[in-house]
Amino acid sequence: MKIKRIAAYQVDLPLHEGSYKWSGGKSVEVFDSTIVEVETDKGMIGYGEVCPLGPFYLPAYAEGVRAGIKELAPHLLGSDPRQLDVLNRRMDAALKGHPYVKSGIDMACWDILGQVAALPVCELLGGRYGDDFVLYRAISQESPDQMAEKVAGYRDQGYRRFQLKVGADPQMDIERIRMVSNLLEPGDKLIADANTGWLMHEAARVVRAVDDVDVYIEQPCLTYEECLSIRQRTSHPFVLDEVVNDIDMLLRGHADRAMDVVNIKISKFGGLTKARLARDLCVAMGVAMTIEDSWGGDITTAAIAHLAHSTPSEFLFTATDFNSYVTVSTAEGAPQRDSGRMSASSSPGLGIQPRGDVIGARLVDVH
Ligand code: MG
Repeated sequence: MKIKRIAAYQVDLPLHEGSYKWSGGKSVEVFDSTIVEVETDKGMIGYGEVCPLGPFYLPAYAEGVRAGIKELAPHLLGSDPRQLDVLNRRMDAALKGHPYVKSGIDMACWDILGQVAALPVCELLGGRYGDDFVLYRAISQESPDQMAEKVAGYRDQGYRRFQLKVGADPQMDIERIRMVSNLLEPGDKLIADANTGWLMHEAARVVRAVDDVDVYIEQPCLTYEECLSIRQRTSHPFVLDEVVNDIDMLLRGHADRAMDVVNIKISKFGGLTKARLARDLCVAMGVAMTIEDSWGGDITTAAIAHLAHSTPSEFLFTATDFNSYVTVSTAEGAPQRDSGRMSASSSPGLGIQPRGDVIGARLVDVH
């Protein structure tokens, strides 16, 4: 079986809440997502999706996905999409770095492998743990009382884990954490994600001021070293995200005891193949995970669901259902949240079929 075509489509994904805001005044109103299509000489077609969180979150941007696929795809025609490790080595040999460019292609090839094997991707990734898995809800940065109101509303919808977008004025962030914490019940989990937004002196003030609150601290500062210095002066459970994007950083973080939980975003690592390696390493090291991506719609959510559902439940800190944040559905068969939980499709592959009328015409078409 050989790849005979790699194509890309563009879809705008507006948000139900109108906008998504986080540290440093960063904000997105409409996400620019790329849907990747890989077609084989046997007529089988797989799909993937890559959607950066705007151009200012990670070193990734929406047009870059399409430009990168244009660059990379000619090197992959003729490759066997089922041989994922071989394919990934070929991608790395043809284009250095740019993991997010490769993510959608890798995802689409897993979709093909699942269809060939007549198995859902989660079973190929190791097997399904339990009936479903737990989600969190990200709470866009607003005033403390507006954020508390959002948490109460999403709690009514069944979510039990809440990730507050902080990383702004420390005094205001302390209020955000305290106000929301007061709403929660035993068993709920609260995460304060600063998204690199605090300097060390600000992070130090916040963690000390909420010392009595049961809250996880996520990515307080810009660099690994700054985060480590905060980690070493707080007893709060600690999550790393933006600074962990490969196996080297996972090993370093483990050696330094720098995190209790790590955020595995599929496109940050370069696709399901590499995210699975990271996931399996985290399990071996005793590190729990948030499994998600930078952003996305139905297809990204399907891929997250397969990776999350094949992660041992006690290691899955939480996962994300991006398709419930956005107003556009790009594919049939995508998983849907049910009271703050979700499950991966039991259909072969990713279990999704893109909606032709939504994804439109091919913007990149290499064959
Ligand atoms: Mg994060």
